[in-house]
Amino acid sequence: MPPLPRLEPGSVWLVGAGPGDPGLLTLHAYNALQQADVIVHDALIAQEVLDLAGPNAVFEFAGKRGGHRSCSQAEITQRLIHLAREGKRIVRLKGGDPFVFGRGGEEALALAEAGIPLRVVPGVTSGLAALTAAGIPATTRNTNAAITFATGHFADDGPGDTDWRSIAKAGHPLILYMAVQTLGSIADALIEGGLAPDMPVAVISNATTPRQHILDTRLDRAHDDAIAACIEAPAIVAIGENVRLREKLARHMDVSAFGATLEQA
Ligand code: SAH
Repeated sequence: MPPLPRLEPGSVWLVGAGPGDPGLLTLHAYNALQQADVIVHDALIAQEVLDLAGPNAVFEFAGKRGGHRSCSQAEITQRLIHLAREGKRIVRLKGGDPFVFGRGGEEALALAEAGIPLRVVPGVTSGLAALTAAGIPATTRNTNAAITFATGHFADDGPGDTDWRSIAKAGHPLILYMAVQTLGSIADALIEGGLAPDMPVAVISNATTPRQHILDTRLDRAHDDAIAACIEAPAIVAIGENVRLREKLARHMDVSAFGATLEQA
């Protein structure tokens, strides 16, 4: 093990837990779980990841489950600040990377404003892990020199509508988070913006877990096919020429290492 930092009492580490498979945790994330007094976590954290906590860690659940109301962002940050002021060593565990579409940025800003000592541990984001696990290179020199990450879901007070037509015009492959429900209207707008209706699409659910499922489809049918296949959340939608490469790669790939089971929302 390389030398790893000490989690000091009264501080919060905002830690990325990766997409599901505990093998995709970082050593920093493992080090954090081992030292925490309190682990405040979301729904999409695999039980096998939580099992890596030290013996005295207390878990607090801060996500949405079984249709119950999730804690508001303000409630979560207030709780973190309260625990820090009590002198606890706190890990705020978020799925994937804490700063990618998971409101980790908002939490970090609130903690910084409150003067709480903070460290942020990057994680493997599900968008990239899902593509890779499905045999879709995010970039190759023959397909694309850029890629776009986007969310299909906005907070009520969020930044408003994404300009999907302009995104289509740019022509880069897309990695969409939280987009299964809105896929129909996103696909329509992308086609209006100039993407080919037969552009290959892969919908990858429960990536890097034993329930990983991949739906291969095309842009104009993606929404209907996803409904027919009863795609489970969480899922990543990949759209672009690079998705075609999966055909060549996937059958040669060993996915037997994906041993985790996601705790379902
Ligand atoms: N910070 C997270 C994303 C949080 S938003 C990250 O970096 O991965 C939650 C969305 O992430 C889900 O709706 C889904 O689109 C995606 N997601 C998270 N885990 C996933 C998984 N194992 N497989 C597929 N998609 C996943």
